[in-house]
Order: sequence, then C-alpha cells, then structure tokens
Amino acid sequence: MGQKKIAMKPDKKIALVAHDNKKQDLVEWAKFNRDLLAHHQVYATGTTGEMLERELGFKITKLQSGPLGGDQQVGAMIVDDEINFLIFFWDPLEPMPHDPDVKALLRMAAVWNIPIACNRASADFMISSPLMDGEYNRLVPDYDGYRKRKIPAAEAAHKAQKSPS
Ligand code: PGA
Repeated sequence: MGQKKIAMKPDKKIALVAHDNKKQDLVEWAKFNRDLLAHHQVYATGTTGEMLERELGFKITKLQSGPLGGDQQVGAMIVDDEINFLIFFWDPLEPMPHDPDVKALLRMAAVWNIPIACNRASADFMISSPLMDGEYNRLVPDYDGYRKRKIPAAEAAHKAQKSPS
C-alpha cells in the first residue's frame, strides 16, 4: 500500500479525554502546560471538558460525555481530520461500560496515524516536541486500494448476472 500525506498545521486540533480515575492527572498536566495548549484548538469529552474549562480558563469545544457517545464523536472527527491529536488518559485498572467505544477510538487513532498519548509521560514528551509548533506531514496509508478491493460474493453475483443460465 502506498502512502498519502495529510498536512497538520502549526495549530493542532487536540482532543483531551480522561477516565474518571485519571481526570485529576489530566487536569494537573493541562494546567502545567496551559500556555502551550492555549494556542491550539482544544476539544474534550463532556465531563473532562467541563473540568478543564474551569481550570484553564479558555474555550474548549465540549462533545458528549464519553460513555454517552463522546468517544465515538472524537473517533468520527479523527476520520474527518477535524481532530488530529489525541491525549487520552484511559484507566487500565477499571472495567468501562463503553469499552468497545474506547477500543474503537484507539483504533481510529491508529488507522489515521495521529499522535496519541495514553499516559502523562507520553503527553509530556509530545507536548514538548519541536514538531508541536510547526507544520507536519502525517503519512497515512493510501486506502484507495482497500476501497477498491474485490469482494468475492459481489464478484460471483456480477458474473452470474452477466451469464444467466
Ligand atoms: P467524560 O468521558 O469526559 O465525559 O467523562 C470520558 C470517557 O470516559 O471517555
């Protein structure tokens, strides 16, 4: 499969998400990095966003709460390139009712090759990267080959249609 480039502007479209046991961690991290974050476009799932907006004092675009569909909204926005950077402090020790959504979100981040930090140390390294403030061409597999793949059942139906017995 070839590769395509998707340009990321200096102002990143960052989604911040944290599970309940990790929210305090994310708030502390975001407060510490407030000035670095402030000039990017910041999105968050509902409850995380409420907490962050209170603490940071700048506008955050709030989506639904994660378990109510917020994770899926973030995933869909990654697909549409409306979000291109994800900080997601998920909780490895707590079962979640929306586990399939969490998995789907992580999967979309991998499919579209966006930077993703799942813990505070990764977030520290990412936010302090010199790549944060410049333009960056993200390499994404060229999925055209996948879109045009042959579907065996459809092929058989097509052949049968062309040569009726
Ligand atoms: P919340 O959602 O910010 O609304 O709590 C986070 C999540 O559980 O995905």
